[in-house]
Amino acid sequence: MSEQTREEGRSPVRRVVVVGAGMAGVQTAVALREQGYRGTVTLIGAEPHQPYDRPPLSKAVLLGKAEGSAFDVDFESLDIEIRLGSEALGVRPADHELDTETGPVPYDVLVLATGAEPIRLPGAEGVPGVHLLRTLDDAERLRPVLARQHDIVVVGAGWIGAEFATAAREAGCAVTVVEAADRPLAGALPAEVAAPMTAWYADSGTELRTHTRVERVEPGAVVLDDGSRLPADAVVVGIGARPATAWLAGSGIELGTHGEVVADAQLRTSVPDVYAVGDCASFPSGRYGERLLVHHWDNALQGPRTVAANILGGATCEPPAVYDPVPYFWSEQFGRFVQYAGHHAVADRMVWRGDRSGPAWTVCWLREDRLVALLAVGRPRDLAQGRRLIEAARPMNPEALADPSRPLKDATA
Ligand code: FAD
Repeated sequence: MSEQTREEGRSPVRRVVVVGAGMAGVQTAVALREQGYRGTVTLIGAEPHQPYDRPPLSKAVLLGKAEGSAFDVDFESLDIEIRLGSEALGVRPADHELDTETGPVPYDVLVLATGAEPIRLPGAEGVPGVHLLRTLDDAERLRPVLARQHDIVVVGAGWIGAEFATAAREAGCAVTVVEAADRPLAGALPAEVAAPMTAWYADSGTELRTHTRVERVEPGAVVLDDGSRLPADAVVVGIGARPATAWLAGSGIELGTHGEVVADAQLRTSVPDVYAVGDCASFPSGRYGERLLVHHWDNALQGPRTVAANILGGATCEPPAVYDPVPYFWSEQFGRFVQYAGHHAVADRMVWRGDRSGPAWTVCWLREDRLVALLAVGRPRDLAQGRRLIEAARPMNPEALADPSRPLKDATA
């Protein structure tokens, strides 16, 4: 359908309001303009800063190699109104109004893109020297801490903990990572896959203490559950994140068991004219037959295109766009480039490619004979080819898959 026909056929969606000016919110506003929407777009964000990208915060920004990571988007020329430093406090769907710190904002369509917020360590709040790493302000507070080359304790050996420890070691700090589980990334990866990653900590000079819980944090020390004390000039808490949706309580918008907005396959919420996208929302994956809550950058990039298409298409009776991605993310840790595509929870078989004690290897997950997920360490070509094979659901030959000298794309059955 031509842009003109879309315009003519559209029922009046004159005002789209997007809450949350992170990746998902900004991309929604941009995608609306790219797809030809000509009404008002208002982007409302709680943070005072020009909208910025988060992945560099635990990498270049932390080490002072980059000043910031503001998105390269010219909001003015796209005619996107941005209201920064303005927190949304609630939604009244019956009135089509959003309540903000600076007053009510009417909408025809509302997009929720409020992301996630870090889980706090009980009892550690307010203790001097305790940090989180989610925002630009957090990264700016941590930068001088690294520069002082202090003793640092990181709580949690997840993605953020590993990336922060990498940066802190590079800056010359003594780093101890305390993890309650028996291995790093216990919530994300099976034991066999996380096992080689344990050695990465030691190789970088980071002390990793697994099966260890924090009893309490005191100024200058972390007290562990076995009674031992770790000296800590700074403590960085990286124990996960949860959807930033507390402000939606009482709105009638359905929230799931993790506090996330429950969206449908078109990224619509349970309430008419309200969509949700990015870290704050889960969606039903037709591909994997499960509801997915994805806290990664690519989801905040891709989801908004579906939201924009449905806002425009909904008005012109075009068939709805369905969001059914192959999830993707990457992490840079301990000198390695780690990439993951798919969703391995549904797999019934695992196949290794390459020597897992070496610098480059891949693990593939199959369900029956189809590739459903892969994790590639230092093998970006495997990732790129594997992602396409997952999408195409082509039957694979497990023996060929196990041969790291053979391109993954040639390992089909
Ligand atoms: P967010 O980026 O959280 O943005 C949401 C915005 O909404 C925030 O600015 C918030 O202040 C605002 N907001 C919240 N509540 C309200 C309210 N009530 N009113 C108004 N505004 C509100 N992913 C990868 O795949 N690879 C990586 O290497 C990687 N590195 C990362 C490093 C760090 C340090 C962090 C924190 C995340 C990283 N991620 C990475 C994850 C990725 O950045 C997120 O998945 C992505 O930022 C999600 O975008 P979002 O817009 O949904 O949410």
